[in-house]
Amino acid sequence: MANRKDSSARSAKPAKRASLKPGISIEPGAKRRFQNRLLKWYRRYGRDLPWRKTSDPYKILVSEVMLQQTQVDRVIPKYHEFLERYPSFHDLAKAPVAEVRETWYPLGYNIRPHRLHSIACETVARYGGMLPNDSDELLSFKGIGRYTAGAVRSFAFNEDAPILDTNVMRVLHRVFIASGDPKTQKAMLWNLSEASIPKGKGYDFNQALMDFGAVLCTARDPYCLLCPMKDFCKSYPFDPKRDK
Ligand code: SF4
Repeated sequence: MANRKDSSARSAKPAKRASLKPGISIEPGAKRRFQNRLLKWYRRYGRDLPWRKTSDPYKILVSEVMLQQTQVDRVIPKYHEFLERYPSFHDLAKAPVAEVRETWYPLGYNIRPHRLHSIACETVARYGGMLPNDSDELLSFKGIGRYTAGAVRSFAFNEDAPILDTNVMRVLHRVFIASGDPKTQKAMLWNLSEASIPKGKGYDFNQALMDFGAVLCTARDPYCLLCPMKDFCKSYPFDPKRDK
């Protein structure tokens, strides 16, 4: 991607910048605008998804594992079916893994039911069926990586924990960086994700980021002309031919 805008040219005096290690800084004004406009956009256009109606860590985890590599509309019916059959960590842990795998079908990427089953067994054995909210403890589970730990902390325990999936990575990179390959800038993007969360609003902000990337700042054809970030987005107007 090329950095096509010099945002500093908009202001008469040099802007103060918040440093984000490693290697990026953002103007506090741009950060505030981004937070406010994103939350406003989400209140109006946020998607109505079943896992947003619960704070049960088990249900949040099931939705997050199902959503890995799978479209939302394919996940929704399976999410309901799965929870009806296995309503808790205890129920899932008791079930034979072959049956869990069958219930999972036709969602692909079949390592996921095994991972979920193993997390359920471990949660029951180590924590009495209650998923912990501590980041290190979550990361100690096989099958829970940094994104899933952040999503569980944020969506089940209402903490200001950062997340970084493909959508979030794309949005943050386009708005604040706009140069280089985001896949090689993950450490910086994790820092950016963490630094962008408005205090006490991690749940809504993270949901909003994911929806914004899925609905408006899409991978191939983002709706830049309709975008509330266009006056400070470093990628505006996004050109898919130029910004590969
Ligand atoms: S202006 Fe375009 S590239 Fe920038 S955030 Fe909005 S939709 Fe994405």
